[in-house]
Amino acid sequence: MQNESTSSKQNVNDNLDFNLIIHMNSLISLLKQFICSGCNKRWDGSTTIKERNGLYIQLEFMCNHCGFLTRLYSSPKMRNGRRHEINVRLAIGGSLNLPPPVQEHKYREVQEFILNYVETAQEQPMIDAVYDAISEAGDVEDLTENHECQLNFIGASGAMEKEMIYEMFCRSLPKYDIKYISYIGDGDAKVHKYLTTNPPYPGVTIRKLEDTNHFAKRMLSCIKKIKQENKNTILSDGKKINGKGRLTDGDAIKFKIYFAKAIRESKTDLDKLYEKSWAIFNHHYSTDIEPMHDWYDPQWCKYLQAKSNGQQFTRNSRLAIPRACLDLIKPAFLELCSKTSLARVVGGGSQNANEAFHSLLWTMVPKHRFCSSTILRTALGLSTIIYNDGYSSLDKLFTSVFSSIGYFSAECFGRLHTARKSLTSKVKKRRKKVQQQQQQQQ
Ligand SMILES: [Zn+2]
Ligand SMILES: [Zn+2]
Repeated sequence: MQNESTSSKQNVNDNLDFNLIIHMNSLISLLKQFICSGCNKRWDGSTTIKERNGLYIQLEFMCNHCGFLTRLYSSPKMRNGRRHEINVRLAIGGSLNLPPPVQEHKYREVQEFILNYVETAQEQPMIDAVYDAISEAGDVEDLTENHECQLNFIGASGAMEKEMIYEMFCRSLPKYDIKYISYIGDGDAKVHKYLTTNPPYPGVTIRKLEDTNHFAKRMLSCIKKIKQENKNTILSDGKKINGKGRLTDGDAIKFKIYFAKAIRESKTDLDKLYEKSWAIFNHHYSTDIEPMHDWYDPQWCKYLQAKSNGQQFTRNSRLAIPRACLDLIKPAFLELCSKTSLARVVGGGSQNANEAFHSLLWTMVPKHRFCSSTILRTALGLSTIIYNDGYSSLDKLFTSVFSSIGYFSAECFGRLHTARKSLTSKVKKRRKKVQQQQQQQQ
């Protein structure tokens, strides 16, 4: 065997001037057919990676009989510099000088071949997710019977065809042996109307639950609207709504956050939700002479804390929102925090899980790019698997397709798995931080 690096030829007519993707095992089985130049025996030995830089790799082969070493340099160096051609080619947008890929129609066949595996692999995580949801809801008697469960739409209801949603309902019985009796949606009334006039399960009325996040956001838009409409109005204290020490957009955001929190914590109890929602307004409307902190969370309220310690509390009036401003935005509370209005979120849920799933899906299939339904379904399947079980669960899928996941793929999925985990915990940490900030601002 010659210890020689591959050299790039100038001649474009040289039909061997190209790169080749070759599996290591193919290379080694080739070597095993040759005679070692060190010992004249048929070569058999070990292979080590001496250097790896991007797509470039330097391999060392050692003969087991005589210890003879030989090296393979997978790509020539550029004429000027230390870079390897393959990595520079990759940087020019992937002009890798590879043989052309399979023809379009063959490629589609391969995609369909993969889709079969992906859709098989996604079934179990989906079934698991459905049963997890049932057991989380505390309904674990006998899972083989027809069960009722809340459906979280995969998709914004407004953008989705009502027939598709109807179909999702109908599929639940043959597929999971469960009935979805309610779903979380936002504004769109068309879907619910369709499900009411065409009940997917005879005799079952499907309830639409309000998306709590969506509902809480209306507090912000309501206050902002009032502020905008009255930006030139002179309020009862002779000043306008905007300006220093008045009611800022930041205050409006805070009201939304507190309102969302009240909904989250009391969404099973209308009376409590009503009290908690109005406590937000009253707490801010309070003065030292007229304190109105009832129902406010003592954890967040300095007045209630002082009172329980038997101390006198004096409000920092510089930080307080003037009553004149609060009077102006009170209609937002009157509209959203009436019992009729709040009744809509009782028992509601959020589409947070949905949004997380979406962001995962759209990293695989960017929204702006056209893609075939095969690719979309593959991405949907992969997202389902990753969303429910993490990247490391792709191991099983790859093993079923290729008999082995492959060293670098395993390493890559391992890293993605860890990154995703830490991202999830980062989001949790960030939420915690926001909560702490709220606490400090009170
Ligand atoms: Zn020969
Ligand atoms: Zn040898």
